[in-house]
Amino acid sequence: MIRWMTMAAWLASVSSMLGASTQQAHEPVVAGAARGPAPSEEDPLTRPMELGRARKWLAPLPPERIFGRSYLVGFGGLSVALIDTGAGLVLVDGALPQAAPAILDNVRKLGFDPKDIKFILSTEPHYDHSGGLAALVRDTGATVLASARGADGLRAGALEQDDPQLDYGGSWPRVTQIRVVKDGEVIKLGDTAITAHATPGHTMGSMSWSWRACEPKFCKAIVFASSLNPVSADSYRYTAPSSAAIVKGFQASYKLLDALPCDILISPHPDNAGEGRYNDKRGACRTYVQRSRGLLAARLANDRKEAGQ
Ligand SMILES: [Zn+2]
Repeated sequence: MIRWMTMAAWLASVSSMLGASTQQAHEPVVAGAARGPAPSEEDPLTRPMELGRARKWLAPLPPERIFGRSYLVGFGGLSVALIDTGAGLVLVDGALPQAAPAILDNVRKLGFDPKDIKFILSTEPHYDHSGGLAALVRDTGATVLASARGADGLRAGALEQDDPQLDYGGSWPRVTQIRVVKDGEVIKLGDTAITAHATPGHTMGSMSWSWRACEPKFCKAIVFASSLNPVSADSYRYTAPSSAAIVKGFQASYKLLDALPCDILISPHPDNAGEGRYNDKRGACRTYVQRSRGLLAARLANDRKEAGQ
């Protein structure tokens, strides 16, 4: 359901993305929030991109507490998570470049100072989840954590040579302040331990992140899984010998996520995980894996058929 204020705020944000001339008449009204700088054509790090898709992806939502001191600070079509560790904040993903000011506004609305963000965890080197990282790093001083292959893509601000979507091209602001983390590495901050899980497939650098969020009586395992969507540019074939590592990557990721404790699943595009902003139904991660397995099997069957023609 879309309430009137939500729709009004959405329209305002879209018009502000389209240019300053329409911005004045539709200035977004966000109660209780000190707004940061608006996305701007003059700021290379927040210059709006993908306007058509951004309307849906960046549909504004208020920040929401998930469990314990874990929150969502992103949008209707792109997830951004926030963890309060008691000794600094951790953000997961950065959405599009023009999303950075709204993400930081949501952090402030929860009563936190964006300067307390110590780490930003990255799930994949694609513009829709990493486009905002450079601006977020600049505006908070945080360090981005990514896999080695993920870091390569973030530093380049472009798709890697073995990315199934390579032929789509495109680039996004390069990220400079990155620490590479290994598969299985645990990042400790305050009372929180976050584990990095390599989950290759969608990109070879994809990484998922898991942690325990606690309330006085019990804790829940939260997984911010990377995208498992087997999408590619038209010319790409998952059946080509050069794609073998990608297919193997998907299979390893399925195995890992099937076995991972997962009370609450967050996926980079929330609709890939089910209804709502996150999925806390039993077996959420296994359902997420099952969806990808089906999509990949269909792609392999299709690519096999086309190769045979
Ligand atoms: Zn992607």
